Amino acid sequence: MDSMWASWKRALQAAARPSGWAWCFFLGIFLLFWPQWAMGEARVLGIRTWSSPSCTRVVVDLSEEVTFKEVSGHREAELVVEFKAVLARMEPVKKIQDSLVAGVTLSSTTNGTVLFKLSKKNPSFRHTAFLLPRVDGRPVRLVVDIENPSAGRMLQEKRKAIQTEKGAKAKVVVIDAGHGGEDPGAVGFRGTYEKHVVLAIAKGLQERLNQSKGVRAFLTRTGDYFLGLRQRVEMAKEYGADLFISIHADSSPNSSTRGASAYCLSLTGATDEAARILAEKENSSDLIGGVKLSADHDLNTILVDMVQTQTINDSLRLGGLVLGSLQTIEDVKFPSPKQAGFRVLKAPDVPSVLVEVGFLSNPEEEARLKNPTFQARLAQAMAEAVCRFLGMDAAQPVLVKESVKEQPKSLSSKESRVRSPKKEHVVQPGQTLSAIASMYNTSVRELKSLNHIQEPSMLRPGQRIAIP
Ligand SMILES: [Zn+2]
Repeated sequence: MDSMWASWKRALQAAARPSGWAWCFFLGIFLLFWPQWAMGEARVLGIRTWSSPSCTRVVVDLSEEVTFKEVSGHREAELVVEFKAVLARMEPVKKIQDSLVAGVTLSSTTNGTVLFKLSKKNPSFRHTAFLLPRVDGRPVRLVVDIENPSAGRMLQEKRKAIQTEKGAKAKVVVIDAGHGGEDPGAVGFRGTYEKHVVLAIAKGLQERLNQSKGVRAFLTRTGDYFLGLRQRVEMAKEYGADLFISIHADSSPNSSTRGASAYCLSLTGATDEAARILAEKENSSDLIGGVKLSADHDLNTILVDMVQTQTINDSLRLGGLVLGSLQTIEDVKFPSPKQAGFRVLKAPDVPSVLVEVGFLSNPEEEARLKNPTFQARLAQAMAEAVCRFLGMDAAQPVLVKESVKEQPKSLSSKESRVRSPKKEHVVQPGQTLSAIASMYNTSVRELKSLNHIQEPSMLRPGQRIAIP
């Protein structure tokens, strides 16, 4: 028994200890089949694209950094970028086509490189290609921007024309939806993207403000594409903005953190740690978008030069009004605006505020923030604050307009009667729906149905209630 065990053991040991030639054999096999990427070769992970009115951005996601070079294409309008990588098991490139780009292809060559070919719709369109390093869990990216300079100039002229034609009485508000394109901003507890939520709220705010007499509102970005922070500030200046409001949504590692907050620029930088961290996070957008940041002396020079004290005081007043208004519909994190070194608030003579409308990392707030009805309420609350700041009357809400959409095609005569209000009541602080109902000799139920009120406790001072 013993000797049998010993011979088994010897056999096993011999098998586990390969001779010199066996080692070479294994090594050869290993090198032959070891994937190129495991030795530092880049793999193409995917391709994505975003279109703005004057620029298209195509992003190739890569597993490793690559060196790339532009090679000449067959046609004048063709841009070819070559880099050493493996095009492994990638989803077929979906058709990329917009007002600037006619098509994009990716193909492997026999010498282990990948060719990125892009056909411009017009050879005069400019292009830039650059590499972005791995950041925030995102892969290395080869970014190709195609720009239509004449469309860009035309849009710029249009913005400047607004400034000339607005006259003394009209006020221009520029609304900035944070992030966009490949920069999603905060990602919610259940995966909601900040960039989508804030664009929806910004559009709602624009609509509300444009219904207010004497106010014209414009958006920095109108779709899902990236804009550098400086571009956003530039746009506000071109419009001759009287006020700039940048909309964001927050996130925190603690899912119970909640509430809206407002930020204004500080002269000396961040006034507290939370504000500083947040400013770093929002400012990193510039890096994410691949826009090179200039040295800080630029910021400092502007800060020193501008008539900044007045602007900051105005911004603080605006921030306070926005918070006061938001407080009537949701929690606020801080009762007054915080100050920090946000680049997007840098326009020297435009009162500017950055509003964080709530925490996407809080499941309850996330659910509300992506709800169109709540988005409309946020927009209305901010519109009222903006109009108060500008000394204008805010257009009145939302509720009646929404009810038009929700109305069934044929109304019974009773409903028709109920839905044509004779008068309005402006809600006073602390006033309840039942108090209003008894004032006008009607019922809470009728008021709720007429005004589409789901939560009577959410009445806010200044809100107009239709009275049957
Ligand atoms: Zn943000």
